[in-house]
Amino acid sequence: MNDDNRRMVVVSNRLPAVIHPNEDRWEIEAGSGGLVTALEPVVQAHQGLWIGWPGCSEEAPVEALLEQFGQQRGYRLLPVPLSEDQVQGYYHGFSNETLWPLFHDLLGHCRFDTGTWKVYREVNDLFARVMADQLSESDLVWVHDYQLVLVGDCLRRLGCHQRLGYFLHIPFPSPDLLRRLPWKDEILRGLLAYDLIGFQTLRDRRNFVNGAAQLPEVTIIGRQRYHTLLQVGERVVRAGHFPISIDVSDFERRARAPEVDEAAWYLHENLEGRQLILGIDRLDYTKGLQERFLAFERALEICPEMRGKSSLLQIVVPSRTDVPEYQRHKEMLDRETGRINSRFAEAGWVPIHYLYRSLDPVQLLAHYRACEIALITPLRDGMNLVAKEYCACSLDNNGVLILSEFAGAADQMGRDALLVNPYDIDGTAEAICRAFHMPQEERQRRMRRLRQDLRRNDVHRWVDLFMRNLLAVSHRH
Ligand code: UDP
Repeated sequence: MNDDNRRMVVVSNRLPAVIHPNEDRWEIEAGSGGLVTALEPVVQAHQGLWIGWPGCSEEAPVEALLEQFGQQRGYRLLPVPLSEDQVQGYYHGFSNETLWPLFHDLLGHCRFDTGTWKVYREVNDLFARVMADQLSESDLVWVHDYQLVLVGDCLRRLGCHQRLGYFLHIPFPSPDLLRRLPWKDEILRGLLAYDLIGFQTLRDRRNFVNGAAQLPEVTIIGRQRYHTLLQVGERVVRAGHFPISIDVSDFERRARAPEVDEAAWYLHENLEGRQLILGIDRLDYTKGLQERFLAFERALEICPEMRGKSSLLQIVVPSRTDVPEYQRHKEMLDRETGRINSRFAEAGWVPIHYLYRSLDPVQLLAHYRACEIALITPLRDGMNLVAKEYCACSLDNNGVLILSEFAGAADQMGRDALLVNPYDIDGTAEAICRAFHMPQEERQRRMRRLRQDLRRNDVHRWVDLFMRNLLAVSHRH
């Protein structure tokens, strides 16, 4: 069969649509985010199928809503309905309390619980069963992220021989860390059931390959610049790294809109004569928010000329709000901002403007455009798209990007960003001072190069690269 005619089947934890009640009826609307923007056109072009959890309670008329939505968008959506207990064990439990912290190198936050592991396996199997009924021989299947590691293995056990691709959006831990996981072999073997396994960075790919090579049935048979070939019994599996990106021209176009222009101007007008330092993060302990506040505080100590002349604008987007650990994290951030502000604030100047809410798209773009410095310092991050969005929207090339060396984005942006170790408070503070004093010419040179690289490697190229690699794997089951 001609590769262009193959149907594409995308599988992700959530469907690319949001179903919610509105007064006495249910409504459906398109989901947002980079992944949906990138993949939807490809799924549409192949009259494809998107499979995922609809994310709403069981009483919603899910099938009818998805059917109507799918007809409008030109592809099919197939729900995997989950009970509340399943969501609790698979998603909140094993995915978010075990795999998420472990894969972000934060062992102290991990909970290892046989109960949630069982539900995780059961839900991955449920996804596979829903899929198996639908797949035809020539389908190209692309499974996404840490919630669905085992789906490929479940499909193989059900006798599915299709070409299976998988992409991990978060980091992959070193073999030493992975060894702490009681079910590490199941996780590795789950991944090895796919034909192509995609990671964000070379380091993630290496971590995986080194972990997998410890299994007796695995031999490394080839190492190339962008992928490694593994012999797994009779099969050959390809592990590659494919850094995800954003729709750069779409961001540039939207950032130019008059309403964004006006909102950006207004933002600065309100905080006149200041350099604005921007932080935008989901509330999460991986984002290094406390360390960031401490580094900003330190910068105000070592660089007193910043006082009154610079403010940190920190947007924290509420996330996992019903989880006690996240609630405690937020309380700690509230306290820290209060402490630092009360220590340094003067009449007419507050060091940290801290907003606990999400921004609408115009405000988000306006913040990207208006702020002279972006301070993006996760302790560990698969990629960090905010870093890329900030640069795409820096239309006058005037922004400075301070970026954690532990964000996947550092691999592509490290040369022209100011790289910091977020655990090094003094070093990060020095980078903030350096950005504050950076001459115009240097800012422009760095940001121009960042944006040039970004344009060359946008999200459409990412999809394209992954699909080409998936088609290239020799495939025999
Ligand atoms: N974002 C958003 N609304 C906001 C702030 C951020 O939609 O108020 C988006 C932002 O544009 C980006 C995403 O949230 O695309 C965050 O992605 P990132 O990779 O930086 O971090 P993640 O939250 O996936 O860990």
